[in-house]
Amino acid sequence: MIEKIISSKQAMEMESRYGAHNYHPLGVVLSRGKGPFVWDVEGKQYFDFLSAYSAVNQGHCHPKIVAAMIEQAQTLTLTSRAFYNDCLGTYEKYITETFGYDKVLPMNSGAEADETAIKLCRRWGYDKKGLPENQAKMIVCDGNFHGRTITIVSMSNDPEAYGGFGPFTPGFIRVPYNDIPALTAALEDPNVAGFLVEPIQGEAGVYVPDEGYLKKAFDLCKAKNVLFIADEVQTGIARTGKMLACDHEGVRPDILILGKALSGGVMPVSAVLADDDIMLNIKPGEHGSTFGGNPVACKVAIAALEVIKEEKLAERAEYLGNIFREESSKIQSDMIKQIRGKGLLNAIVIRPKNGKEAWDVCEKMKELGVLAKPTHQHIIRFAPPLIISEEELREAIERIKQAILSFE
Ligand code: PLP
Repeated sequence: MIEKIISSKQAMEMESRYGAHNYHPLGVVLSRGKGPFVWDVEGKQYFDFLSAYSAVNQGHCHPKIVAAMIEQAQTLTLTSRAFYNDCLGTYEKYITETFGYDKVLPMNSGAEADETAIKLCRRWGYDKKGLPENQAKMIVCDGNFHGRTITIVSMSNDPEAYGGFGPFTPGFIRVPYNDIPALTAALEDPNVAGFLVEPIQGEAGVYVPDEGYLKKAFDLCKAKNVLFIADEVQTGIARTGKMLACDHEGVRPDILILGKALSGGVMPVSAVLADDDIMLNIKPGEHGSTFGGNPVACKVAIAALEVIKEEKLAERAEYLGNIFREESSKIQSDMIKQIRGKGLLNAIVIRPKNGKEAWDVCEKMKELGVLAKPTHQHIIRFAPPLIISEEELREAIERIKQAILSFE
């Protein structure tokens, strides 16, 4: 029995009354999660097909991750980096060995990790590439999403993200995504220190670049002594069918940015990985975070990565992703304009019909017990926890089908 603390209506009214209006959630109030499922306060069960924007890859409340968290929370939670703690070194060894880098710099949110990567890149540009003071530039892509800080929205071409928040941080050159000639031209600027890219643009609407784009971009960067920086906050940690989305093209980024599923969704844990030549340019006192590398985060991240490996979640994402695209492409509806994605990061692009849009499809899916949300009006992202079973996935697709066909 689920204890009713509060009704959905009350909860929504309270959020609206007391919280900032910086989100527009679907009208569902969740109070419990387990594996691929969440329940609302009235006890209705849903498939979670968003997974908190790919943070809950290991499934809701994974017992191993939660146990690691509870045990450490009862022992030592936070020391700050003013002192050593007995968890950080073990975690640093584990994550650097897992991803194959010399060093890690631990942070909390994805945006902070992106900011860290930008600082590392600029500093490398001055200390190692020899760029003139304050002249370092970074190339970024149209449609990028790296978070919400002022510097990060300075890179954005989405008016919703940057509008009304200027003045902006200079030093960014934007090129179209998936456009090698544009990148080639931008790399002619001798002050470019790095190229920051999402291997698949998640927030923009699950844009998968052409095969070979990442590899070509990487090679072009190398030819110009420019760092290739991959933001794998959303695509990383098994979501796209490989541990990293860059692995699909055998690309090893110079700087790797991770977040979200690094904790399995139990707390904010992010990380930036790089080799010594890049990482050691930042000296004590030049960067940090009170909570970055805290003992609970370290234990949680180790458990979260172990679950990914033990439960072979990358392979599962690859296998189940093929089923998702194959089965959803059988849905006979002219509301489906396109289905695209990799592994279990997919999107269905909706063609509005009789005034019904992606939002209406999401409302209908909610009624039928599947939660997903539109991104950029016409695109619905489908990203269930990777532990979902094949049977559960097929059941969810059946409900998605019913929802779309209800508008025929
Ligand atoms: N980078 C990418 C690619 C993301 O998708 C996101 C969030 O969706 C972020 C960075 C920002 O992460 P956070 O919301 O934890 O700051």
